[in-house]
Amino acid sequence: MGVTMQVDWLIVGAGFTGAVLAERIASQLKQKVLIVEQRDHVGGNAYDYYDEQGVLVHQYGPHIFHTNAKHVWDYLGQFTQWRSYYHHVLGVVDGKQVPVPFNLNSLYALFPPHYAAKLEQALLNEYGFNVKVPILKIRESANNPDLKFLADYIYQNVFHHYTLKQWNLTPEELAPSVTARVPIYISRDDRYFQDTYQGLPKHGYTNLFRNLLNHPNIKVLLNTNQAEIEGEVKYKRLIYTGAIDDYFQHIHGELPYRSLRFNFIHHPDEHYQTVGTVNYPNEYHYTRVTEFKHLTGQRCFGTTYIEEYPQAYIRGENIPYYPIPKDEYRQLYKKYEEEAQKLNGKVLFAGRLADYQYYNMDQAVARALSLFEKNICTA
Ligand code: FAD
Ligand code: UDP
Repeated sequence: MGVTMQVDWLIVGAGFTGAVLAERIASQLKQKVLIVEQRDHVGGNAYDYYDEQGVLVHQYGPHIFHTNAKHVWDYLGQFTQWRSYYHHVLGVVDGKQVPVPFNLNSLYALFPPHYAAKLEQALLNEYGFNVKVPILKIRESANNPDLKFLADYIYQNVFHHYTLKQWNLTPEELAPSVTARVPIYISRDDRYFQDTYQGLPKHGYTNLFRNLLNHPNIKVLLNTNQAEIEGEVKYKRLIYTGAIDDYFQHIHGELPYRSLRFNFIHHPDEHYQTVGTVNYPNEYHYTRVTEFKHLTGQRCFGTTYIEEYPQAYIRGENIPYYPIPKDEYRQLYKKYEEEAQKLNGKVLFAGRLADYQYYNMDQAVARALSLFEKNICTA
């Protein structure tokens, strides 16, 4: 860079966390922000672009926005219109494609009607209707032999192998909250999420980020790691949204993450599959296949879909997509949190990697908005 630059805030990372905080600081506090981003684009893992065939795709895996937090939905609504979209997922079980999360429709798709009705009754007697029950809880609590059979069947066919592929761990080795993200749903509702607000930004995520960052008090420096500008930029305070163990140069040891490899395939037909995502718990090395046109509603010739291959995370070689929700890693994270506290608020940490939390997009936005209200606005 050469020339020294002076700003009020340096923000590391242009994903949802960094972009929302930049927008708030620039527009509400009228202070100057520089965002430094190591990738060649804004948007973090939500980045989307038009591929060579003109299909809008998500470079880092499929992203569907869903939330119950009206303030998050309304806040982002200032920067994008929404395309209403309800995500549907089918899982391949015993050679059939059945709704996931597993629900009463899945039951009837897999078992003869009289037996499905018996299993349905057992579920209703035990838990009631329109109730979500995590698979690990059903397995623990099922006494009735029909329920026991069903719990083992769903566990084996939907969760066990998928989770081994995705995490290289069994469901029991992870925090129960991981498999509880996709609970058994005692209902006929086939949607993947039941949140009040669901959709995708009408003109894409990248467009939403451009609007968020389009403010005279915000400058964005792409293709640059924070380490490269040390000493070149003067700032009063720093917000860091990258991996917290990277920030502290792994003084307490490396936090583990899970990575993915994506395979994009273009197909000349109008559609490749009937729904947005098909999960393959038991076959192949990939976990799921997502066809973007279902999500985006784009109309064009041909279609592009993506296969997700879970990978070990290797620092410097691939991307740390998922913190691994497991007690011992949470304890390790806490050591870094203590280091962060010693900085007395001069550096603020937030985001999926900085908080080492399995945040969905809405949770990352909610975290950023509350950090702004509680620790920045009032400081
Ligand atoms: P990120 O998006 O990871 O942004 C952090 C940014 O910081 C990155 O761009 C990184 O390059 C940059 N950075 C890090 N360190 C440095 C450094 N030292 N110098 C410069 N730059 C740096 N959520 C949903 O709600 N719905 C979904 O359907 C969904 N699907 C997902 C699918 C996949 C495969 C994955 C991996 C995640 C999905 N998510 C989904 C979660 C969503 O991606 C996150 O909630 C969101 O991206 C978190 O935003 P963030 O800003 O905290 O982190
Ligand atoms: N899961 C599973 N089978 C499925 C779908 C999900 O075992 O068909 C488990 C798996 O452990 C997965 C977790 O539930 O990692 C959360 O799934 P989700 O779809 O929320 O994962 P993400 O979209 O965050 O990758």
